[in-house]
Formats: sequence, C-alpha cells, structure tokens
Amino acid sequence: MIDLKKYEFWFIVGSQDLYGEETLKQVGANARVISEALAEDPLLPGTLVLKPVAITPSVIWKLFAEANAAANCAGIITWMHTFSPSKMWIQGLAVNRKPLLHLHTQFNRDIPWDSIDMDFMNLNQSAHGDREHGYIHARMRLPRKVVAGFWQDAEVRRRIGVWMRAAAARSAGIESPVMRFGDNMREVAVTEGDKVEAQAVFGWQVNTWGIGELAARYGNVSGADAERLVQEYEGAYEFAPELTAPGKGRNAVLEQAKIEIALKAMLVSEGAGAFTTTFQDLYGLPQLPGLAVQRLMEQGYGFGAEGDWKQSMLLRSAKVMAEGLPGGVSFIEDYTYHFEPGKEAALGAHMLEVCPSVAAGKPRVEVHPLGIGGKADPARLVFDAAPGEAVLATLIDLGNRFRMIVNEIKTITIENAMPRLPVARVLWRPYPSLQGAAESWILAGGTHHSVYAAALTTEYFRDWAEMMGIECVVIDKAAAPVRLRDELRWGEAYWGHRG
Ligand code: MN
Repeated sequence: MIDLKKYEFWFIVGSQDLYGEETLKQVGANARVISEALAEDPLLPGTLVLKPVAITPSVIWKLFAEANAAANCAGIITWMHTFSPSKMWIQGLAVNRKPLLHLHTQFNRDIPWDSIDMDFMNLNQSAHGDREHGYIHARMRLPRKVVAGFWQDAEVRRRIGVWMRAAAARSAGIESPVMRFGDNMREVAVTEGDKVEAQAVFGWQVNTWGIGELAARYGNVSGADAERLVQEYEGAYEFAPELTAPGKGRNAVLEQAKIEIALKAMLVSEGAGAFTTTFQDLYGLPQLPGLAVQRLMEQGYGFGAEGDWKQSMLLRSAKVMAEGLPGGVSFIEDYTYHFEPGKEAALGAHMLEVCPSVAAGKPRVEVHPLGIGGKADPARLVFDAAPGEAVLATLIDLGNRFRMIVNEIKTITIENAMPRLPVARVLWRPYPSLQGAAESWILAGGTHHSVYAAALTTEYFRDWAEMMGIECVVIDKAAAPVRLRDELRWGEAYWGHRG
C-alpha cells in the first residue's frame, strides 16, 4: 500500500546568465549526469525530476509555484553549480510550500591541480554559490536540511534518501485520513489534542466514524471469508495447538479475521492510512480488535490505542519512512521497569496491539482473557521483538504547539520466558541510561504511547519534524536531564510564540 516512487523530488540547479551560453550548457549537462546517477540509486527511494537550470527570478518563481501545484511533488532539492545571486530566489522561496533540501556538492571530486584556471573556478564554484544560497535560506528562516559532500558518496546519498522518506511521509499524511473508531479513552490527557491544529500543521484529517458502522460490516462478513483469512494466518504464523481444531479458541481467531476484514474494508473505502480504537467503545464487536490491529499495522496502517490519533498518524508516517527497509515499526507502550543494577531495562508491550514487523521470530497466534474491557477473550500474536538499535518517537500537544520527543534505545534479547504474559514484548535499554532517559522523557512531557522503530534512526524523525515546523527533543547517548530542562525552557522561548 506504500509506493515511494510515486513521490517526485524536483532537482533545481541554480546558476545565472552572466557566464554565457557555453557555461550554462555545461552546467545543464553536469546537472543531468548527477541527476541520472542519483535517480538510479536505491538509496534515494523517490523519483528525482531534473528541472531546467534556474537563472532568473521569474524562472525560479515559476518553478516553485509549479511545485506547489504538483500534488506528486513531495520536495525540492536545490544546488548551486555556479554562483546564483540569491535575491533572484527570494520570491520563489517565499511562495514555496514543499520541504526543502539544500544539496551542497560539486561536479568534480578533485581539484585538477595541473589544469585548473579561472574558467574552471567560475564553472565549479558551489563552495562559493551555495554559501550565497544558504544565506538567503537563513535570512528567510526557512526550515530545510543541508547535505554537504561529494554526490557520489554513499553517505551523502543516504542522507538525501532519509529526507526523501520523511518528505514522502509528509505527503502521505496529507493524502490519507486517520479513522477514529470511538473517542479517546475517558479522562486520559496525553492522548487528547487539537485536531484543527493537526490539520493546519501536519495536513492530517482527523475525523470520527461510528463503531456501529464497523459492527454492521463485521456482522456481514461471511464465515467462508473469515475461514480463508485464518488459513492465510496459518501460512504466516504459528498457531497454539488448541486453535488448529474447531472450538472456542479457533472461533476467537475467526472473530478477529472478521474484524480485520471489516476494518480493512472501511479503511479502503475512505482511503485512510491509519485508525484508532478504544476499548471503552466496542459496542457490537465481540472482542477488542487485537490480532486484527496487528495484521493491519503489518500491512502499513498506522494505529493508536485508546483513541490516540497522534501516535496513529505518527506510526503511519514511520511506516512510510520505513517502507522497504530492514527492521519494523510499531505502536508501543511503556509498561514496566527492571531496576536490577547493571541490567536496567524497560519492558514495552501493549494489551494486544504490537506490530509483528518487529518480531524476532515467527509470531504465534494465541487466545487469552483480557483483564480489561469486559469482552470475549481476544486472539493476538505473541512474540519477542528482535534485538538491535531502535528509537522511540512520540508526539504531544502542549496546548500552543506540538512537540516530538525521540529516545534512542537498544532492544535486547528477553532471556526469561514470562509464560504468564502472553502478549508481544519488547525489552530495551534506553540511552543515555534508564534513569537519564526516563527523567528526560518525563521532563519533556512524553507519553506512555510511542512509535517504536527498529527500521529508522533519529535522523528520519528530525527531518520530518523540521519540515513540519515543530520542536524535536532528542534523548540520545549524550543526553542529560539537567541540560535538557534548560533546552526545553529555551525551546519555550522559540517555539512558544509561534502560531
Ligand atoms: Mn495505552
């Protein structure tokens, strides 16, 4: 359901008409070589589109105006091959509504020591021209990513690719709404938020659909369709032995299959990319959607429990950013700590809804009672998350703005079986330490809900926050709660007056 190639990234190479026809021809030819090489590289997942060399204010203004109107244009990359006086760029940059990446590179890797002359210097002066270009971005206070280095270098391409994925996620968020089934969990503060502001800032359409419509669709799913889907489950997951034969347990799995079919039909009919449920509003459904939600997350849908639409859309954004990358992304919830000295860790899980894309092995379908909600025993996928570096990201509404918080973590292997905890489990050591991360996260106001991303790094979320124009608080190896408290106060001065 996620196609990154459909997103275009316009490559605008700047120059000026001072140098004459010959030089401009060479600029155009070099731009084409770079553009074609980048377009072929799988590190850059979008479609790179080379635009004519930008040499006058009216050409530049038109390019940005066209980009704004092009629905598939997800971002703009600029590079100044020569000097390109930046007053020419002001009108274009002033109307630009697309994410911006300033690529600071040059066509040649090496200085041609023996042949270099002033003509060569005039043609290859991005060290000069990109500074003029960067100045006008800074002067206009434009959010952007600057990537410096030789264009053939893999690290340069990787960083452009990260930004492309973040920009694709931004576009995807505008294109597809989040369907809220039921409201937020009663009395919970952190899952609330300003839906009008979310639409203004992120372009997210946050609206509600009646649980009754979902229940009606669920009621109309045929037993044969549910059975077919359960057979698909049998191909993809292990089954607890008691679920392989007809009986109460297998019926519980069939109920989840019906819920999956009904939910998916509604998501598809609205073109939605994400959804929320709440265990306090399940009228007409037999079980809390568990396995059904896990399956839909695996297919690329965003999800937030207890009506948490912010985390649902953030997960959807992470799904788009992570498309095709190794490692998974999931909705997750902080639950319990392990304070044993030297082995401190946090256990993340949820009642049911963790995405199997983060699983270490083959997930197993099991049916167990749920101590909350008063519904029938739900089927769910049980697994441990794969070990490795990962990040947690969350989005909160501070009343006057949104804040993103990112914590870098290391997921570790769970060495104890926990036989009485039949849910998906993720055990991690946060950076800089459990204590430092927890104090920092809590000082920043972070939720107990977040997006767990093994496929992504902080850089993706930073790029995404930058293009959304929101604050991004990072808790990494170097974080210290006392300094962070100051950073949050300085941030209040900058971000607090915005909007
Ligand atoms: Mn929760």
